[in-house]
Amino acid sequence: MKFNDMPYQRIAYDETVRTLTELEAAIDAAKTPEDALEALKAVDAEAVRVSTMFALAYARSTRDTTDEFYAAEQDFIDEMSPRLSEYTQRLDAALLRSPHRAALEREIGTLFFTQLEIDQRTFSPAVIEDLQEENRLSTEYQKLMASAQIEYDGQTLTLAQLSPYHRDPDRAVRRSSTRARADWLSAQSERLDSLFDELVAVRARIADKLGYPSFVELGYDRMKRAGYTAADVAQFRERVKTRIVPLAARLKAGQAARIGVDRLTHYDDALLFPDGNPKPNGTPEDIFAHGKAMYHALSPETAEFIDFMLENELFDVLTRKGKAGGGYCIDFPAYQCPFIFANFNGTSDDIDVLTHEAGHAFADYQNRGAFPLSLKTPTYEGCEVHSMSMEFFAWPHMDRFFGAGADKYRFMHLASALTFLPYGTMVDEFQHHIYENPGMTPQQRNTLWLELEARYRPWLDNDFPFYGEGRRWQAQPHIYERPFYYIDYCLAQTVALAFWALGQKDPGEAWSRYMRYTSLGGSETFTRLVERADMPSPFGPDALREVAETAAAWLDAHM
Ligand code: ZN
Repeated sequence: MKFNDMPYQRIAYDETVRTLTELEAAIDAAKTPEDALEALKAVDAEAVRVSTMFALAYARSTRDTTDEFYAAEQDFIDEMSPRLSEYTQRLDAALLRSPHRAALEREIGTLFFTQLEIDQRTFSPAVIEDLQEENRLSTEYQKLMASAQIEYDGQTLTLAQLSPYHRDPDRAVRRSSTRARADWLSAQSERLDSLFDELVAVRARIADKLGYPSFVELGYDRMKRAGYTAADVAQFRERVKTRIVPLAARLKAGQAARIGVDRLTHYDDALLFPDGNPKPNGTPEDIFAHGKAMYHALSPETAEFIDFMLENELFDVLTRKGKAGGGYCIDFPAYQCPFIFANFNGTSDDIDVLTHEAGHAFADYQNRGAFPLSLKTPTYEGCEVHSMSMEFFAWPHMDRFFGAGADKYRFMHLASALTFLPYGTMVDEFQHHIYENPGMTPQQRNTLWLELEARYRPWLDNDFPFYGEGRRWQAQPHIYERPFYYIDYCLAQTVALAFWALGQKDPGEAWSRYMRYTSLGGSETFTRLVERADMPSPFGPDALREVAETAAAWLDAHM
């Protein structure tokens, strides 16, 4: 179905509460496993209906932020959905106490119930007001960051519009644009500090009311993590320090020499080549024509997928007045359609839309009829494997987009994937400290950040007060809005790099394992999915060493 033809109907609160209550009664009344399965199907149909309408309201309100109808719908959903949680939790409790649980588990596997158990722990009606407060603070951070109006180069720019200047080949431009960004952020320091104080406090309060020792454990549960623990993550971080940081330091030294600076600062960090980072050729229409050809060449499944996406107008990528910033992939399960939203800016980011976001959409499309809905997609680290690996499977086709710059693109992509790991891991370690010690002062947090930078990114010089004071983390939205999300990218990147390394030796085998991984949807935990695809676990002792060695050899040979 075309995006514009998808019918929208508000999820009315009273009516939905009534439906959820009836479904709870139907679960309790089931006399046989067959009855229980029928009831579960009805529960799932309701989940499909609600999540489709929520997603549609979100997509339509971001497509046109001046659309008053969808803005009002989104406000209504933000306010109503925490209240609805009380009834979905009661429904989940009915499923968990069902005498037919074992029979249902034989039908749909055990993970569905494991996730319901996790969900039960993360909510209670006693925290509804705190959750609303947390949402409000998170939205205020978003609005503050989006409100930036920075005078630069004769224009008034947002932070996103300013960012291409930070990669300019001219160091004076990089320096002055980064200075403008840092100064604007410094001017918001007080509000950024107090917003974070309030967020840490409300999260600690929610964790306390729910009976968790700290927000760390609740944060893990909110990510629905099963199959690995905070101790596994801590060990992964240690391996990043010993295996990846030295390689990243070597890459960064090479970058400094290439672009002709004696010491890398924050305003040199993103420039990989002295004549500028590679840019895609052609118009957006050309990029889509290349994307279509690429997915047709890659496999029959991706060919079918890209034709479906294009025929149904499921991309919205051109920047328009009134359109929200950023990019995402979202799914409308009732219409069995994914949807990709982006803002093309003429840099290699545009290609990521067709590789990364399309990797997410491809997995959604492959699993479009999945039952139950909650097993359609894995947890976030599992989903990021879909997208980050697709970026690497697209490598042989980069000549279409970058012409003579394709090798530079591949070099930049691989080097950035490796140097991202220390940064992403550091964000995770920072958050563990913060939520284990919710009483830290703003000054203590900044000091902690500087200590971590010295360990994870020792090559980086801190210029300007914003960076020198250890405030870089305040510009990282996930730290405010999505606690503990960041390590998911690092775990996924490790698996994606393993797919890349295998693809260097045997592209056919790498693709068939990726298809096996993707076709399982969210039917297994992240670690089990990786195992089922015969890929090395990122928590294994050698996973990082192996990808680091293969990547270092490739980068050395291509420089
Ligand atoms: Zn992603």
